[in-house]
Amino acid sequence: MRYFSTRGQAPDIGFREAVLAGLAPDGGLYMPASWPQIAAADRAAFAQATFPEVAASVLSAFAGPEISKAELLILAQRAYAPFDTPEIAPVVDLGGDDLLMELFHGPTLAFKDVAMRMLAQLYGWALDSATRGKTIIGATSGDTGGAAIHAFAGSESAEVFMLHPRGRISDVQRRMMTTVQAANIVNIAVDGTFDDCQGIVKALFADASLKAHLDLGGVNSINWVRLAAQAVYYFTAAARFECPVSFVAPTGNFGDIFAGYAAKKMGAPVARLGVAVNTNDIMRRAIATGVYEPSKAFPTSSPSMDIQVASNFERLLFEAVGRGAGDLRGLMQDLEDGGRMVLSGDVRRFIAADFCAERASEDEVAAKIREVLKSAGMLIDPHTAVGLVALDKLRTSGEVKGPAVSLATAHPAKFPDAVEAASGVRPALPARFAGLFAQDERMINAPARIDDIRTIILEQSLFV
Ligand SMILES: *Cc1c(COP(=O)(O)O)cnc(C)c1O
Repeated sequence: MRYFSTRGQAPDIGFREAVLAGLAPDGGLYMPASWPQIAAADRAAFAQATFPEVAASVLSAFAGPEISKAELLILAQRAYAPFDTPEIAPVVDLGGDDLLMELFHGPTLAFKDVAMRMLAQLYGWALDSATRGKTIIGATSGDTGGAAIHAFAGSESAEVFMLHPRGRISDVQRRMMTTVQAANIVNIAVDGTFDDCQGIVKALFADASLKAHLDLGGVNSINWVRLAAQAVYYFTAAARFECPVSFVAPTGNFGDIFAGYAAKKMGAPVARLGVAVNTNDIMRRAIATGVYEPSKAFPTSSPSMDIQVASNFERLLFEAVGRGAGDLRGLMQDLEDGGRMVLSGDVRRFIAADFCAERASEDEVAAKIREVLKSAGMLIDPHTAVGLVALDKLRTSGEVKGPAVSLATAHPAKFPDAVEAASGVRPALPARFAGLFAQDERMINAPARIDDIRTIILEQSLFV
């Protein structure tokens, strides 16, 4: 399979390069040249298959001849071995036609483990014959950093420098990163905000003096292979039903729900795709009014969705304009010049054919956490609650009918304060984290200055 940039002004690449790629050189995002099809017989077999087997089938459709399905299966088995349930992404009944898919059974209790672990394995494959490893530099506001550090710890093909804003992430989130004792992992606690961290990472990627010494890589959610790995659980969940099923995903960067769209294009029997947002509702406004206009991000109890630019929406727009890179460049230029994009009637109809959207206020999130504890005896995290509030509203408006799977993207114990404030019950960390608060932390404190961070990276790198 070849991959093209949405902006149409970069050379196309193969699967191996797509594994390692971030943004395309023209500023676009990579998309597969076409949607590979999973045959109905194969899909039916998914109901009986293990999660790594389904992952091997779905990824093999994207990898083409570059890597065999048997090899992908070995990588997937390694990626998912540390999950605490062999189902990897179990689906539980909430009553009626509502179901919840638990995506938080990995090492850092959030759904980002699912794709990041597969990506780390594929990095090892892609860099097998390379002479030097990749230096991954990232910024995290919580979940991505932990998933990346756990996935790449001990890897011979990559090292990770992860910046987080000092004192601005939860203790559980920080300790999941800083207690990992591996020589190829360096945590940097930056005196500043998440935006400062992101700004420094962006500057470092453009820094010639760093690039002269190191082969830099990124692992954020614009990487195509992360989305491909997320499409897997839409297939495993859909295989449980005789009829098409709808999905609702708590949405920030639009990566997870776009993976659902990819699964649908590949043949998964998906009915509606519900975009669930918190008060940072740019995607709901875009779908409802046709105007995509970032504003200021508000802090909420679901911080992994406190995002005002939904980067992966560019991929859907590319589809909606009939994969016309010129039209897409025009829209992105409008956004850059005027701070907004106005979607045409055709684009809006294209999106509405598959997607619907709803938002949840902070009060509604808290009420939902209480309600699910009462009705199902289950604690859910605030991100998961956003999804369930949206599902209720989408049923009321008639957008979603029949069976619907809402995605549980984090374990409640990852956000204990918000869950306790809403329900009066403090969620306990699973037993395997018993030592988390006793283990030593390793991190380097640094001011929010590019020069200081560059010096730390060059001093600590294994690959200089
Ligand atoms: C990242 C994240 C999301 C949002 O996923 P996107 O792919 O950015 O839409 C939702 N919930 C949790 C817990 C997350 O970590």
